[in-house]
Amino acid sequence: MKKIIIIGGSDVGIITGLRIRELDKNMDVSIISSNHFPNFSICGIPFYIGGEIKNYKDLAHRTADEIRATGLKLYLDSTVTNVDPVNKQVSFFDSDGKAGLFAYDNLVLGTGAKSIRPDIPGLELPGIFVLRWIDGAIAIDSFIKEKKPIEAVIIGGGYIGLEITEALIRRGIKVKVIEFFDHILTTVDREFGEIVKKVLEEKGAQIFTGRKVEKITNEDGRLQIHATPDLTIAADMAIVAVGVLPETSLAKRMGIETGIKGAITVSRNMETSIQNIYAGGDCTESMHAVTKKPVYIALGSSAHKHGRIIGENICGLKNEYPGTLGTQSIKLFNTVIARTGFNDQEAMEAGFQPLTIDFETWDHKVYYQPAYIIRIRFTADRKTETILGCQIIGSIKAEISKRIDIIAVSIYKGVTVPEFVQLDLSYTPPLSSPWDPVQMAASVWLNKKKTV
Ligand SMILES: Cc1cc2nc3c(=O)[nH]c(=O)nc-3n(C[C@H](O)[C@H](O)[C@H](O)COP(=O)(O)OP(=O)(O)OC[C@H]3O[C@@H](n4cnc5c(N)ncnc54)[C@H](O)[C@@H]3O)c2cc1C
Repeated sequence: MKKIIIIGGSDVGIITGLRIRELDKNMDVSIISSNHFPNFSICGIPFYIGGEIKNYKDLAHRTADEIRATGLKLYLDSTVTNVDPVNKQVSFFDSDGKAGLFAYDNLVLGTGAKSIRPDIPGLELPGIFVLRWIDGAIAIDSFIKEKKPIEAVIIGGGYIGLEITEALIRRGIKVKVIEFFDHILTTVDREFGEIVKKVLEEKGAQIFTGRKVEKITNEDGRLQIHATPDLTIAADMAIVAVGVLPETSLAKRMGIETGIKGAITVSRNMETSIQNIYAGGDCTESMHAVTKKPVYIALGSSAHKHGRIIGENICGLKNEYPGTLGTQSIKLFNTVIARTGFNDQEAMEAGFQPLTIDFETWDHKVYYQPAYIIRIRFTADRKTETILGCQIIGSIKAEISKRIDIIAVSIYKGVTVPEFVQLDLSYTPPLSSPWDPVQMAASVWLNKKKTV
């Protein structure tokens, strides 16, 4: 019987295992995870902290029992300490601290990412959290219930920091955000980041950009967050969300090739530089769908696809990852901001001749109230007229994520702007217009192209 060992019990690990189970009931599949919470939606953590999800257990895509019921063997709180790729053996410590050794035919690395712990003196003080896992979310929730903090500082204005900002505001806490770059949410352009800033400020957040946190001290029982230039903030708690790095210590010890940020380099079928060892998700590079070059984009949406492809390849179906566009939607209160593909600068750096337009319109026919203004920034290549990227911001009721997904599909398929304008998209006055707003933006792009 073919033996498969999967390291990591999150998106990649569980999806790989389940896909193998679907395709081949005869393989012996074991998942070893250092985490206590298999297959939890860590993407849902901000909504649990904010109180929109009452019980953290509801964040489980599947329970451990449901996973085991499929025939997968699941070892939780168990850490793989070494892999011997020559003799194809995995050494680990189980939940009782007992050493174990498993042989494998195929190995899967789904070791994910770890939150960056910046080198800030004082980071170990009580009341400071570096968020990544469910146990961290439970600890934050308990801290809020027990200590009843009044003021909090979020270090890092990326999407996770901002989702947590909303969460703490929902819990009645005053929040200040400190961001190193000169605008928040650097995955979108500055103008879009500024709109997001306003949305959060209207809800009471204070946002400081262009500031570097230098140290944290405890004075009279309160945290003092010292940043340069010229900023000291007193707070009862702080959450650090300054990004992630791939967890590849094991892979590096095995001599597996790594690339951007130390992430594991994989082929299009998700195989590493060592034959029979696959890897996917936050511990790997991804191929960009347009440039076909490696990028590091850590998203659960990609991790799920990686897992499925790995499972299929282990079962003998030859499948390849088509690439990522970094497509993402973020909800902050009643606003959604979404992006896919390249912005103007990135498109230029990738060797295109981009033309970018801004466009604002109602999400649907304005006579059917309420209608909502949405803002679209649309980028395509002047030479080939293929769509390269888009950013959209608007109300949660304005179908922003559907619209960014239409663009994402079109980029994948190499649709040109004239073709895109003619796509048969749905229309009813309460939801859209005869030309969907993204098609209107594409028309504006074509008109602009004629004039420049
Ligand atoms: C707060 C938050 C919000 C997010 N929101 C979104 C979102 O809205 N949309 C989106 O697409 N993505 C989101 N993400 C990112 C998404 O959660 C990750 O991309 C995804 O979880 C990656 O899955 P993975 O399986 O690669 O790794 P991970 O989820 O990082 O899991 C890695 C697993 O490996 C285990 N492991 C590591 N080393 C070992 C070892 N030596 N032995 C045994 N086990 C080991 C860990 O215990 C864990 O089980 C969010 C992330 C966070 C933290």
